Amino acid sequence: MSPLNHKSAILIIGGGTWGCSAALQLARRGHRRIKVLDSSRFPSPSAAGNDINKIAEEANLPFENDSDKDYAWNRIHQLAMDAWKHDPLYAPFYHPTGFIMSACGSEAYNQVLKYVSGRESQFMTLRNAADFRATMPKGILTGDFPQWRGFWQKDGAGWVFARGALEAIHAEAERLGVEFVAGSLQGKVEALLYSDDGFTILGARTTDGAQHIADQTILAAASTNRVDRWYTKTYQFSSMPSAASSSNQTDASNHEMKICDEHPGYCNFVRVNGELRSVPFVRQQIPLEAEQRMRRLLHESMPTLESHEFSFARVCWDADTVDRLFLIDRHPKYAGLVLAVGGSGHGFMTMPAAGIIVADVLEGILETRLRTMLRWRPETAVDRNWQDTQDRFGADGKVMDFRDVRKWTQIRGDDAKL
Ligand SMILES: Cc1cc2nc3c(=O)[nH]c(=O)nc-3n(C[C@H](O)[C@H](O)[C@H](O)COP(=O)(O)OP(=O)(O)OC[C@H]3O[C@@H](n4cnc5c(N)ncnc54)[C@H](O)[C@@H]3O)c2cc1C
Repeated sequence: MSPLNHKSAILIIGGGTWGCSAALQLARRGHRRIKVLDSSRFPSPSAAGNDINKIAEEANLPFENDSDKDYAWNRIHQLAMDAWKHDPLYAPFYHPTGFIMSACGSEAYNQVLKYVSGRESQFMTLRNAADFRATMPKGILTGDFPQWRGFWQKDGAGWVFARGALEAIHAEAERLGVEFVAGSLQGKVEALLYSDDGFTILGARTTDGAQHIADQTILAAASTNRVDRWYTKTYQFSSMPSAASSSNQTDASNHEMKICDEHPGYCNFVRVNGELRSVPFVRQQIPLEAEQRMRRLLHESMPTLESHEFSFARVCWDADTVDRLFLIDRHPKYAGLVLAVGGSGHGFMTMPAAGIIVADVLEGILETRLRTMLRWRPETAVDRNWQDTQDRFGADGKVMDFRDVRKWTQIRGDDAKL
């Protein structure tokens, strides 16, 4: 295999959050032959990043004497936040409004305390309904907030307009010469292509039978990666009075607000060759139990919206690694293959960093401490406990199984949004 240079053919499988970010970063560094394959037209209905908004948190600056995990996390956030604040392409989409972390059950509240521990001075304590109501303009939070306790981080956090950022990055990558091939036939990867000795990846084959030959292949197809746990989260979008959607610039015009039913997740378990796997599917409805949880949230916080009709819903997938750190590394066995997966619930705010790290891995210049923490590490997944909630809470505090879901919503969806 010839050494990487700007004329090397680079194939990216998955044109979602990380695939687009990697394509942009590589194009900005002068790579001229980049092709991105995606199974759906852009933005893909199954891409986790195809969404109204995502929470973004700033972190402490990385220090030499941080633990390796803290260092990795702080460094990734530093790279990402630098882009969200200063890169003209990303910056319009970051809104540093602050955020609220709260709970009404004691177990969940302990997690909240763990989250703020050591950083208490950055947070304002919220003890009762009046405290919660005062965090937003009058008339938005009118609920009684029964037993709610939490914290308000006013600075160093906010939200990003996810779909807007994704579209901007996609457009800029295309402008810089990246070729995007999308669709269930011509963009959906069915298999990797191997060299005769089986030790080098030569590209990928799509459903239409086409072979996409490349010097380097980057797998950024999210939850299709078998080493990762697949979590399903549910989203709902509800019609909103415009005042209440003031936190969302673009979709204020649609008067819509997103609610995410956060919990340890749903899996869709199937056995493949005797191995337990959770296989994602696209569905623009959610379990009825999820809708009920969301309506309870509205009842307690924004009761004027409690009976509002929901305008759209979808199941959203993310891949959690065991330690919830990303996996961005060259495959140890197959030359020419880079893995970029395992967003683990925080892969959007770190999107700019993911692109930089993928490019660094490809070019062999990733700093050692990040390389160590984001390395290929199958040993962490031996005898993986699929019921481990991984510090997530909500619903009944358990990992749920789609096979147990009997009733789904019947929300009149708007496919055009996807
Ligand atoms: C409910 C929910 C809430 C979240 N909230 C936050 C948050 O607040 N803040 C945050 O930072 N992160 C959040 N995340 C996590 C974040 O959205 C993900 O970690 C991140 O978007 C993952 O990026 P990705 O590129 O790996 O995957 P995706 O964006 O899902 O992209 C994967 C792409 O691969 C394509 N693909 C799949 N299979 C194939 C194939 N065979 N061939 C070709 N293409 C294929 C798909 O079509 C898709 O475009 C959340 C995730 C969920 C589910």
